[in-house]
Amino acid sequence: MHNETMTYVNAFEHSAETDFLDLVDDTHAAVVEVGSVWRLLIVDDEPDVHRATTFALNGLSIFGRTLEFLHAYSAEQATAILRKERDIAVVLLDVVMEREDAGLALVKVIRQDLKLTDLRIILRTGQPGYAPEIETIHAFDINDYKTKSELTRAKLYATITAALRTYDQIRALDDLAFYDNLSRLPNRNRFINLIDERLSLGQYGDVVIAILDIDDFSEVNDALGHQQGDRLLRAVAERLTSSLGETTVVARIGSDAFGLMGPSSSVDPLSLLELFRLPFLVQDDSMMVTATLGLVSLTDTKEAGRDAIKDANIALKRAKKNRRGSFVTYTLDMGTEIRERVRLLQGLRSAVDTNRLFVVYQPQVQLHTGKVVGMEALLRWRNDDGSYVPPDRFIPLAEASGLIIALGDWVLRMACHELVRLQAMGMASLRVSVNVSQLQFRHPDFVEKLTLAIADTGIEAANLELEITESVAMEDPDFMLERFSVIKAIGVTIAIDDFGTGYSSLSHLRQLPIDRLKIDRAFVNELSSDILSGPIAAMVIELGRNLNMTVIAEGIETENQAEILRKMGCHEGQGYFYATPMAPPELKEWLLARHAIP
Ligand code: C2E
Ligand code: MG
Ligand code: MG
Repeated sequence: MHNETMTYVNAFEHSAETDFLDLVDDTHAAVVEVGSVWRLLIVDDEPDVHRATTFALNGLSIFGRTLEFLHAYSAEQATAILRKERDIAVVLLDVVMEREDAGLALVKVIRQDLKLTDLRIILRTGQPGYAPEIETIHAFDINDYKTKSELTRAKLYATITAALRTYDQIRALDDLAFYDNLSRLPNRNRFINLIDERLSLGQYGDVVIAILDIDDFSEVNDALGHQQGDRLLRAVAERLTSSLGETTVVARIGSDAFGLMGPSSSVDPLSLLELFRLPFLVQDDSMMVTATLGLVSLTDTKEAGRDAIKDANIALKRAKKNRRGSFVTYTLDMGTEIRERVRLLQGLRSAVDTNRLFVVYQPQVQLHTGKVVGMEALLRWRNDDGSYVPPDRFIPLAEASGLIIALGDWVLRMACHELVRLQAMGMASLRVSVNVSQLQFRHPDFVEKLTLAIADTGIEAANLELEITESVAMEDPDFMLERFSVIKAIGVTIAIDDFGTGYSSLSHLRQLPIDRLKIDRAFVNELSSDILSGPIAAMVIELGRNLNMTVIAEGIETENQAEILRKMGCHEGQGYFYATPMAPPELKEWLLARHAIP
């Protein structure tokens, strides 16, 4: 979905320990302005060094700011100060304190545990022999390494100035990486970090994450221009921050989407939607917009900020589907369902690549002669373990993802090739029918692809039939009439699949150039020796005959059903009673056994 570069985020990660409320305040800060002083922490077990350093730097101002000193006399003390205090720019750190490696251990704590990556570190040692390895200097981003004798006033000044310059640059980069230019709010990366910080502190008791998406924002942009769109976004940002108060983080996580994090009393869907009741004043224009919300409670996510946003997004999508201006709160089963679908879709994609998809063919016979007249191509997906995913599960998924367009075209070509092979064996008039999905059938390129498949495989158009379900055929009558006519003009025949389950308008049905009606197997299933049974099957057969169409029954499982259908005047049939869908080699065997192949 979103594809931020993780390394970039990590490289500039803020302290997990920073006070949460401070961070909220921070969100309104313009550039890196953190105050009128630079804060320096001196870590050394010798009080003399503290005195000498402050004395040397006393009264200096660097880049227009004075220096403030904090003092620690052990690594432990330093850790405590770094945990508590904010915006420490530079640490002057003694390498050898309680232990020989106390200083370097503290460096590790600073970078790895406290994740203070902006902070500049200047190492100092009494003896030159204690210099850390070059790799250590790189790994822990140590700015400078000096022996204490080098720290004269002039040298100290130069060293600290260089460190502060770097610190300022890093903060400016942070700002770019973590704040949205337009609204000055934290951006998506920052929002994720803030959630992660919450999680790392174990504070997910009463924390709700919401994604608030402005409805139809792109239309505002198109209609009024980007500048006005930007102003509207600022107005929304302003209203959100001023209404939600200090306890809630407001971030801009997408062009027209805001991320909110706070207690449920504040990140409350009804009161949030209420904020959109009044128009926004945008340069003398008063604009009404609505917003849709997806929410998730941190207790229901618990993993990482990224997951929380994903879950809130799942909820948001649902809400958008229902109605704009509404909200949906994420529940665990929503995630499972979606993940299952995603997994299945990924599986389907790789199945396409690895030949785990194939086409089987189910014969269709003339009821009164038993002659094989056609076959239906049906798609199959076999897993590596030999189990099958039923088409009723993966076809809807392929439709929803658009994959059906490529898949359908492939089935069409496979079916045409198979027909060519069987015709070459002497079954000249055999027909193949191919199921076509709504999306595929309505696609602008469909007719072209159909024509190409026929031309490339060299089949006779009249031997190809398309199966369109009744519900699809009855939608958008004008379009269907046109498309059906074009297809008929090519010479391809059309069958209405699953007939009897849709809501056909008879007048529309009569208009369409249909060759065959396929009685849905549900109506075949209810046929028994009882004379009165099967009124729908009888009706469909009657209707088809009156409209001059051929009628075929699908799902015939018993001799008895075949017999009843024959008596009702049904022309053709298909079902397990005759044959199950078969892969080409089996199909050939079957045809040979029936002497269908001369
Ligand atoms: P459909 O087009 O109505 O296909 C008939 C279904 O009935 C097939 O299920 C077939 O295996 C099953 N069937 C055949 N004879 C009998 C019988 O005697 N008893 C019973 N109970 N069932 C029988 P299948 O293969 O599972 O396909 C299910 C549906 O998936 C198809 O319904 C069709 O809508 C869709 N489908 C399959 N292949 C494709 C394809 O390549 N493209 C598209 N768009 N849809 C396909
Ligand atoms: Mg079918
Ligand atoms: Mg059917």
